[in-house]
Amino acid sequence: MSAFQGPAGRYAPSPSGDLHFGNLRTAVLAWLFARQTGRKFYLRVEDIDSERSSDESATRQIEDLEALGLDFDPPVLYQHDRGDAYAEALARLDTYECYCSRRDIREAASAPHTQPGMYPGTCRDLTEEQRALRRSQLAEEGRLPAIRLRAHAREWTVQDFYHGEYTGPVDDVILKRGGRLDQAQAGDWAYNLAVVVDDGFQGVDQIVRGDDLLPSAPAQAYLADQLGLTAFSYIHVPLVVGAGGRRLAKRDGAVTLREMLAEKGVADVVGDIAASLGCGGVTSVNGILQRFDPAQLSLDPWLWTSQ
Ligand code: GLU
Repeated sequence: MSAFQGPAGRYAPSPSGDLHFGNLRTAVLAWLFARQTGRKFYLRVEDIDSERSSDESATRQIEDLEALGLDFDPPVLYQHDRGDAYAEALARLDTYECYCSRRDIREAASAPHTQPGMYPGTCRDLTEEQRALRRSQLAEEGRLPAIRLRAHAREWTVQDFYHGEYTGPVDDVILKRGGRLDQAQAGDWAYNLAVVVDDGFQGVDQIVRGDDLLPSAPAQAYLADQLGLTAFSYIHVPLVVGAGGRRLAKRDGAVTLREMLAEKGVADVVGDIAASLGCGGVTSVNGILQRFDPAQLSLDPWLWTSQ
Protein backbone atom coordinates (compact mmCIF):
# COMPACT_ATOMS: atom_id res chain seq x y z
CA MET A 1 0.00 0.00 0.00
CA SER A 2 1.19 3.51 -0.75
CA ALA A 3 2.48 5.58 2.18
CA PHE A 4 0.44 8.46 0.79
CA GLN A 5 -3.22 9.16 1.08
CA GLY A 6 -5.34 11.90 -0.41
CA PRO A 7 -6.94 14.30 -0.41
CA ALA A 8 -3.69 16.20 -0.11
CA GLY A 9 -1.85 19.38 -0.92
CA ARG A 10 1.88 19.62 -1.39
CA TYR A 11 4.90 21.87 -1.66
CA ALA A 12 7.38 20.70 -4.27
CA PRO A 13 10.59 22.74 -4.36
CA SER A 14 13.57 22.02 -6.60
CA PRO A 15 16.66 21.69 -4.38
CA SER A 16 19.02 23.94 -6.30
CA GLY A 17 19.62 26.62 -3.68
CA ASP A 18 18.14 28.10 -0.52
CA LEU A 19 14.47 29.11 -0.56
CA HIS A 20 13.89 32.85 -0.75
CA PHE A 21 11.08 34.97 0.66
CA GLY A 22 8.87 34.30 -2.40
CA ASN A 23 9.34 30.51 -2.17
CA LEU A 24 8.67 30.60 1.57
CA ARG A 25 5.49 32.61 1.04
CA THR A 26 4.26 30.10 -1.57
CA ALA A 27 5.08 27.22 0.81
CA VAL A 28 3.10 28.91 3.59
CA LEU A 29 0.18 29.43 1.19
CA ALA A 30 0.24 25.76 0.10
CA TRP A 31 0.25 24.69 3.77
CA LEU A 32 -2.59 27.13 4.63
CA PHE A 33 -4.82 25.91 1.81
CA ALA A 34 -4.21 22.25 2.68
CA ARG A 35 -4.67 22.65 6.43
CA GLN A 36 -7.69 24.96 6.16
CA THR A 37 -9.43 22.34 4.04
CA GLY A 38 -8.45 19.35 6.22
CA ARG A 39 -6.03 17.88 3.71
CA LYS A 40 -2.79 16.04 4.18
CA PHE A 41 0.24 18.13 3.29
CA TYR A 42 3.27 16.55 1.66
CA LEU A 43 6.73 17.79 0.85
CA ARG A 44 8.19 16.54 -2.40
CA VAL A 45 11.81 17.11 -3.38
CA GLU A 46 11.86 17.71 -7.13
CA ASP A 47 15.43 16.65 -7.78
CA ILE A 48 15.09 15.06 -11.22
CA ASP A 49 17.50 17.64 -12.64
CA SER A 50 20.59 15.78 -11.49
CA GLU A 51 23.01 18.54 -12.48
CA ARG A 52 21.31 21.31 -10.52
CA SER A 53 19.96 19.42 -7.50
CA SER A 54 21.71 18.31 -4.34
CA ASP A 55 20.70 16.41 -1.20
CA GLU A 56 22.40 19.08 0.85
CA SER A 57 20.19 21.76 -0.64
CA ALA A 58 17.08 19.61 -0.03
CA THR A 59 18.05 19.21 3.64
CA ARG A 60 18.54 22.96 4.03
CA GLN A 61 15.17 23.67 2.40
CA ILE A 62 13.39 21.24 4.73
CA GLU A 63 15.14 22.78 7.76
CA ASP A 64 14.03 26.26 6.65
CA LEU A 65 10.39 25.24 6.13
CA GLU A 66 10.34 23.58 9.55
CA ALA A 67 11.96 26.66 11.12
CA LEU A 68 8.94 28.68 9.94
CA GLY A 69 6.69 26.25 11.83
CA LEU A 70 5.26 24.36 8.84
CA ASP A 71 4.56 20.67 9.37
CA PHE A 72 4.42 17.97 6.70
CA ASP A 73 2.81 14.58 6.72
CA PRO A 74 5.53 11.93 6.35
CA PRO A 75 7.28 10.69 4.35
CA VAL A 76 9.13 13.21 2.20
CA LEU A 77 9.11 11.97 -1.41
CA TYR A 78 12.32 12.31 -3.45
CA GLN A 79 11.91 12.23 -7.21
CA HIS A 80 15.33 10.57 -7.60
CA ASP A 81 13.68 7.42 -6.16
CA ARG A 82 10.83 7.45 -8.66
CA GLY A 83 12.43 6.34 -11.94
CA ASP A 84 10.47 3.08 -12.11
CA ALA A 85 7.15 4.89 -11.66
CA TYR A 86 8.02 7.39 -14.42
CA ALA A 87 9.05 4.56 -16.76
CA GLU A 88 5.79 2.74 -16.07
CA ALA A 89 3.77 5.91 -16.79
CA LEU A 90 5.76 6.61 -19.94
CA ALA A 91 4.93 3.14 -21.25
CA ARG A 92 1.22 3.90 -20.91
CA LEU A 93 1.37 7.15 -22.91
CA ASP A 94 1.39 7.72 -26.65
CA THR A 95 4.94 8.95 -27.25
CA TYR A 96 7.63 9.27 -29.90
CA GLU A 97 11.39 9.72 -30.02
CA CYS A 98 12.68 13.20 -30.77
CA TYR A 99 16.13 13.70 -32.27
CA CYS A 100 16.10 17.49 -32.39
CA SER A 101 18.77 19.61 -30.76
CA ARG A 102 17.77 22.97 -29.25
CA ARG A 103 19.13 24.58 -32.38
CA ASP A 104 17.03 22.34 -34.68
CA ILE A 105 13.92 23.41 -32.77
CA ARG A 106 14.83 27.10 -32.88
CA GLU A 107 15.36 26.95 -36.62
CA ALA A 108 12.22 24.93 -37.37
CA ALA A 109 10.17 27.12 -35.05
CA SER A 110 11.06 30.24 -36.98
CA ALA A 111 9.39 28.84 -40.13
CA PRO A 112 5.98 30.31 -41.01
CA HIS A 113 2.84 28.65 -39.57
CA THR A 114 4.53 27.37 -36.43
CA GLN A 115 3.18 28.58 -33.11
CA PRO A 116 5.78 30.42 -31.03
CA GLY A 117 7.07 28.39 -28.08
CA MET A 118 5.52 25.16 -29.36
CA TYR A 119 7.44 22.13 -30.62
CA PRO A 120 7.25 22.38 -34.44
CA GLY A 121 6.53 18.65 -34.80
CA THR A 122 9.68 17.78 -36.74
CA CYS A 123 9.96 14.22 -35.37
CA ARG A 124 6.25 13.51 -34.84
CA ASP A 125 5.47 11.71 -38.07
CA LEU A 126 8.76 10.18 -39.21
CA THR A 127 8.75 6.72 -40.78
CA GLU A 128 10.57 3.84 -39.07
CA GLU A 129 13.31 4.16 -41.69
CA GLN A 130 13.78 7.86 -41.03
CA ARG A 131 13.87 7.17 -37.30
CA ALA A 132 16.57 4.50 -37.67
CA LEU A 133 18.67 6.95 -39.67
CA ARG A 134 18.22 9.83 -37.20
CA ARG A 135 18.94 7.49 -34.26
CA SER A 136 22.23 6.37 -35.75
CA GLN A 137 23.22 9.95 -36.67
CA LEU A 138 22.54 10.95 -33.08
CA ALA A 139 24.55 7.98 -31.77
CA GLU A 140 27.52 9.20 -33.81
CA GLU A 141 27.30 12.46 -31.90
CA GLY A 142 27.18 10.44 -28.66
CA ARG A 143 23.58 11.38 -27.98
CA LEU A 144 20.39 9.47 -27.21
CA PRO A 145 16.94 10.66 -28.35
CA ALA A 146 14.48 12.42 -26.09
CA ILE A 147 10.92 11.11 -25.68
CA ARG A 148 7.96 13.39 -26.38
CA LEU A 149 4.26 13.10 -25.71
CA ARG A 150 2.17 12.67 -28.87
CA ALA A 151 -0.63 15.03 -27.84
CA HIS A 152 -4.06 14.45 -29.34
CA ALA A 153 -5.50 17.70 -28.03
CA ARG A 154 -4.29 21.14 -29.06
CA GLU A 155 -5.47 22.80 -25.87
CA TRP A 156 -6.89 21.90 -22.48
CA THR A 157 -8.85 23.74 -19.80
CA VAL A 158 -8.10 23.71 -16.08
CA GLN A 159 -9.97 25.15 -13.10
CA ASP A 160 -8.03 27.58 -10.99
CA PHE A 161 -9.23 29.07 -7.70
CA TYR A 162 -7.94 32.55 -8.59
CA HIS A 163 -7.83 32.43 -12.38
CA GLY A 164 -11.11 30.61 -13.05
CA GLU A 165 -11.27 28.54 -16.23
CA TYR A 166 -7.88 28.71 -17.85
CA THR A 167 -7.28 27.29 -21.32
CA GLY A 168 -3.83 26.84 -22.81
CA PRO A 169 -1.94 24.81 -25.40
CA VAL A 170 -0.97 21.20 -24.69
CA ASP A 171 2.02 20.69 -27.03
CA ASP A 172 4.14 17.57 -27.52
CA VAL A 173 6.04 18.16 -24.29
CA ILE A 174 9.29 16.35 -23.51
CA LEU A 175 8.76 13.49 -21.06
CA LYS A 176 12.33 12.24 -20.94
CA ARG A 177 15.41 14.18 -21.94
CA GLY A 178 17.94 12.91 -24.44
CA GLY A 179 20.93 11.40 -22.64
CA ARG A 180 24.55 10.96 -23.57
CA LEU A 181 25.88 7.60 -24.70
CA ASP A 182 29.26 8.10 -23.01
CA GLN A 183 27.60 8.34 -19.62
CA ALA A 184 25.88 5.05 -20.42
CA GLN A 185 22.64 6.43 -19.11
CA ALA A 186 19.48 7.85 -20.51
CA GLY A 187 18.70 11.50 -19.80
CA ASP A 188 16.77 12.88 -16.87
CA TRP A 189 13.02 12.55 -16.55
CA ALA A 190 11.23 15.76 -17.46
CA TYR A 191 9.42 17.94 -14.94
CA ASN A 192 6.03 17.75 -16.68
CA LEU A 193 5.88 13.96 -16.42
CA ALA A 194 7.34 13.65 -12.92
CA VAL A 195 5.08 16.29 -11.40
CA VAL A 196 1.90 14.67 -12.74
CA VAL A 197 2.87 11.08 -11.89
CA ASP A 198 3.83 12.09 -8.36
CA ASP A 199 0.78 14.24 -7.70
CA GLY A 200 -1.32 11.25 -8.74
CA PHE A 201 0.74 8.83 -6.62
CA GLN A 202 0.53 11.03 -3.52
CA GLY A 203 -3.22 11.61 -3.72
CA VAL A 204 -2.65 15.31 -4.32
CA ASP A 205 -5.83 16.97 -5.57
CA GLN A 206 -4.99 20.58 -4.64
CA ILE A 207 -2.00 22.15 -6.35
CA VAL A 208 -0.83 25.45 -4.89
CA ARG A 209 2.20 27.04 -6.56
CA GLY A 210 3.52 30.24 -8.11
CA ASP A 211 1.52 31.69 -10.99
CA ASP A 212 4.57 31.52 -13.26
CA LEU A 213 3.56 27.84 -13.62
CA LEU A 214 -0.03 28.55 -14.72
CA PRO A 215 0.85 28.22 -18.45
CA SER A 216 2.17 24.68 -17.83
CA ALA A 217 -1.04 23.55 -16.10
CA PRO A 218 -3.07 22.68 -19.25
CA ALA A 219 -0.37 20.29 -20.58
CA GLN A 220 -0.01 18.71 -17.13
CA ALA A 221 -3.76 18.33 -16.74
CA TYR A 222 -3.91 16.70 -20.17
CA LEU A 223 -1.15 14.28 -19.15
CA ALA A 224 -3.06 13.49 -15.94
CA ASP A 225 -6.15 12.76 -18.03
CA GLN A 226 -4.16 10.44 -20.31
CA LEU A 227 -2.88 8.59 -17.24
CA GLY A 228 -6.41 8.14 -15.95
CA LEU A 229 -5.98 10.47 -12.96
CA THR A 230 -8.76 12.61 -11.53
CA ALA A 231 -8.46 16.28 -12.49
CA PHE A 232 -6.49 18.40 -10.00
CA SER A 233 -7.76 21.69 -8.69
CA TYR A 234 -5.24 24.46 -9.11
CA ILE A 235 -4.48 27.50 -6.98
CA HIS A 236 -1.80 29.60 -8.69
CA VAL A 237 -0.66 32.35 -6.36
CA PRO A 238 1.11 35.62 -7.19
CA LEU A 239 4.89 35.76 -7.08
CA VAL A 240 7.01 38.03 -4.96
CA VAL A 241 8.93 40.54 -7.06
CA GLY A 242 11.96 42.66 -6.30
CA ALA A 243 13.07 46.02 -7.60
CA GLY A 244 11.91 46.69 -11.15
CA GLY A 245 9.06 44.18 -10.88
CA ARG A 246 11.34 41.25 -11.63
CA ARG A 247 11.01 37.92 -9.85
CA LEU A 248 12.78 38.00 -6.48
CA ALA A 249 16.46 36.99 -6.73
CA LYS A 250 19.84 37.25 -5.01
CA ARG A 251 20.40 40.76 -6.39
CA ASP A 252 17.54 41.99 -4.17
CA GLY A 253 19.61 41.56 -0.99
CA ALA A 254 18.98 39.32 2.03
CA VAL A 255 16.21 37.22 0.50
CA THR A 256 16.82 33.70 1.85
CA LEU A 257 15.65 32.69 5.32
CA ARG A 258 19.23 32.24 6.52
CA GLU A 259 20.19 35.70 5.27
CA MET A 260 17.10 37.23 6.87
CA LEU A 261 17.78 35.45 10.17
CA ALA A 262 21.18 37.15 10.34
CA GLU A 263 19.26 40.41 10.70
CA LYS A 264 16.07 39.48 12.58
CA GLY A 265 14.22 36.71 14.38
CA VAL A 266 12.11 33.99 12.77
CA ALA A 267 8.92 35.53 14.24
CA ASP A 268 9.75 38.74 12.32
CA VAL A 269 10.13 36.79 9.07
CA VAL A 270 6.83 34.97 9.66
CA GLY A 271 5.36 38.40 10.50
CA ASP A 272 6.52 39.72 7.10
CA ILE A 273 4.95 36.72 5.35
CA ALA A 274 1.75 37.20 7.39
CA ALA A 275 1.61 40.89 6.42
CA SER A 276 1.94 39.94 2.74
CA LEU A 277 -1.07 37.62 3.16
CA GLY A 278 -3.32 40.23 4.74
CA CYS A 279 -2.63 39.04 8.31
CA GLY A 280 -0.59 41.96 9.67
CA GLY A 281 0.47 41.65 13.32
CA VAL A 282 0.48 37.82 13.28
CA THR A 283 3.86 36.19 13.98
CA SER A 284 3.24 32.44 13.82
CA VAL A 285 2.05 30.20 11.00
CA ASN A 286 -0.67 28.80 13.26
CA GLY A 287 -1.82 32.36 13.85
CA ILE A 288 -1.99 32.90 10.07
CA LEU A 289 -3.97 29.65 9.78
CA GLN A 290 -6.65 31.15 12.06
CA ARG A 291 -6.83 34.46 10.22
CA PHE A 292 -6.06 33.81 6.53
CA ASP A 293 -8.93 34.44 4.14
CA PRO A 294 -8.17 33.13 0.61
CA ALA A 295 -10.73 35.50 -0.88
CA GLN A 296 -8.78 38.51 0.43
CA LEU A 297 -5.39 37.60 -1.07
CA SER A 298 -4.18 40.31 -3.43
CA LEU A 299 -3.59 38.92 -6.90
CA ASP A 300 -0.94 41.49 -7.67
CA PRO A 301 2.66 40.41 -7.28
CA TRP A 302 3.90 41.19 -3.76
CA LEU A 303 6.68 43.75 -3.81
CA TRP A 304 9.65 42.74 -1.68
CA THR A 305 11.33 45.48 0.30
CA SER A 306 14.41 44.70 2.34
CA GLN A 307 14.04 45.86 5.93
N1 GLU B 1 9.58 22.12 -8.58
C1 GLU B 1 8.92 23.24 -9.17
C2 GLU B 1 9.64 24.52 -8.79
O1 GLU B 1 10.33 24.54 -7.79
C3 GLU B 1 7.49 23.39 -8.73
C4 GLU B 1 6.61 22.40 -9.34
C5 GLU B 1 5.17 22.51 -8.96
O2 GLU B 1 4.84 23.06 -7.89
O3 GLU B 1 4.37 21.98 -9.71
O4 GLU B 1 9.50 25.49 -9.50
